[in-house]
Amino acid sequence: MARIELNQLAHQYAPGGDYALQPMQHVWEDGGAYALLGPSGCGKTTLLNIISGLVQPSEGQVLFGEQNVTQLAPEQRNIGQVFQFPVIYDTMSVFDNLAFPLRNRRHGEDYVEQRVQHIAGMLGLDDVLTRRARNLTADAKQKISLGRGLVREDVAAVLFDEPLTVIDPHLKWQLRRKLREVHEQLNLTLVYVTHDQTEAMTFADKVVVMLAGQVLQVGTPQALFERPAHTFVGYFIGSPGMNFMDCQVEGSEAIVDGERIAVDPAMADAAAKAGGALQLGIRPGLIRPAAPGETGHRVKVDSVEDLGDYQLVSGHLGQHPLKIRLEESEKIGSDGLQVVFPRDNALLYADDKLVG
Ligand code: ATP
Repeated sequence: MARIELNQLAHQYAPGGDYALQPMQHVWEDGGAYALLGPSGCGKTTLLNIISGLVQPSEGQVLFGEQNVTQLAPEQRNIGQVFQFPVIYDTMSVFDNLAFPLRNRRHGEDYVEQRVQHIAGMLGLDDVLTRRARNLTADAKQKISLGRGLVREDVAAVLFDEPLTVIDPHLKWQLRRKLREVHEQLNLTLVYVTHDQTEAMTFADKVVVMLAGQVLQVGTPQALFERPAHTFVGYFIGSPGMNFMDCQVEGSEAIVDGERIAVDPAMADAAAKAGGALQLGIRPGLIRPAAPGETGHRVKVDSVEDLGDYQLVSGHLGQHPLKIRLEESEKIGSDGLQVVFPRDNALLYADDKLVG
């Protein structure tokens, strides 16, 4: 296994054209599980293909450990890969499919047997090892693909390109958990491309959020949720995403349409110094109803959706649209809601970047 270093890496598909990847400098730790997450066209596949060697970067280098692999072809890079659609040999048995990458490397049959059994056991393929791959369901075929990507212990990293796209929705959550377990047991360096936040958040130790060829934040799922470094991260992660409201800052208060909301004094200070367009960000689930007698801010309620285990209120604070997640039991009066923005949950952004 190896750590992956992206050294001043950038990519233009055509000289003088747009940057599909803006210059970046990152180190991904040995044994880490990284998810590349972002909307269509943000550069996830380009980055994965540069790491695998399918695309040569126009600038910078890729290092696996100390080795500069930028000029190496995919087959020289010592990686496992799993694609969106199953890549398997239909006429071979499941066992032979899983054994293929090992036999190719001339491992002894005892080792092959033991390793294939281990991987098949983890992925729930042990009952079908003698079956021909072509007679299996699409889900089982993709599990074989996953197994082939994971079977070698001597790879620098395993790269996944949206590997659960073809999997039946009912099985998806199961396989996501399975991949997580596999990672914990095998301690492989994994890089996983997805546009699905749930997939990224369940799979990864660290999520790499991308937009328009830039990496906006690399962080644990919890860090991305609690302290999004950029308004897009706040908006993209969470269901629904974070609320952002234009504001000014005075002392240790953010002023949103005349409503004075207390914020962390150090953050307010940093925001005042940063200048630019300021926004107050807060998660819908972290706004709470004011207690009886407590001073709150009046939110005009436009609609309430009952989503089973919580209510989603869409409303306005002054002119600003606002989403609030409330417990089922919470009563919402016809004259709107009095709410509190807890100080520690209210974050300030200057020109889309978290301040402080
Ligand atoms: P998706 O989720 O839709 O696959 P993505 O996040 O993987 O999107 P990329 O496919 O890496 O994004 O695309 C990043 C940018 O590079 C886009 O603007 C895309 O149009 C452009 N691009 C991708 N492949 C090529 C190519 N072969 N030639 C020219 N431009 C390309």
